[in-house]
Amino acid sequence: MSRVPPELAANRAVSLPELLTSRECRQARQQAWLSQHQSTLLVLTLVVPGAIKDSGLTRNIFNLGWLALQQMWRQQGWQCLHAETLALSTGCEGFMALHADAQRVKDCAIQLEVQQPIGRLWDIDVLDTQGRILSRRSLGLAERRCLLCSQPAKICARQRRHSSDELLQEMERMLNDALSPR
Ligand SMILES: [Zn+2]
Repeated sequence: MSRVPPELAANRAVSLPELLTSRECRQARQQAWLSQHQSTLLVLTLVVPGAIKDSGLTRNIFNLGWLALQQMWRQQGWQCLHAETLALSTGCEGFMALHADAQRVKDCAIQLEVQQPIGRLWDIDVLDTQGRILSRRSLGLAERRCLLCSQPAKICARQRRHSSDELLQEMERMLNDALSPR
């Protein structure tokens, strides 16, 4: 159930092959978790602009998400069979095997993503016991919007409309906002 220590972040640029390999590893890990626990699987990652995927900033954002997810399953009274965070230079990953209905978990995860601004920075995937990903679109939800303008995030990313510095600055602002007492 551990948080990732922000001060130990890799802070180095990762290459495209590294990112592709990390995606393959994540998929393999998901399969291993599914076959081991035969349960709903929740995976937390972040979408991080630029070549540095693991920094103090991203780890702090990740930890807030991980904490929110732990509160979620406790509040819902679900059984958490196993949970693990991985601090990788390609970006932190969090895995949770939950004894709960996948659709219900997805609904609650979406609530987390939309109910507070920082939630927009969390990417929470929910897989059912068959390994099927429950997507936002299949639930009739709008696509994610860009952090800086009103366009769908995918379009801005494809067109490289904003620099990664601009986007990281906005993420930093959102994190400070989430951490500041209100
Ligand atoms: Zn934009």
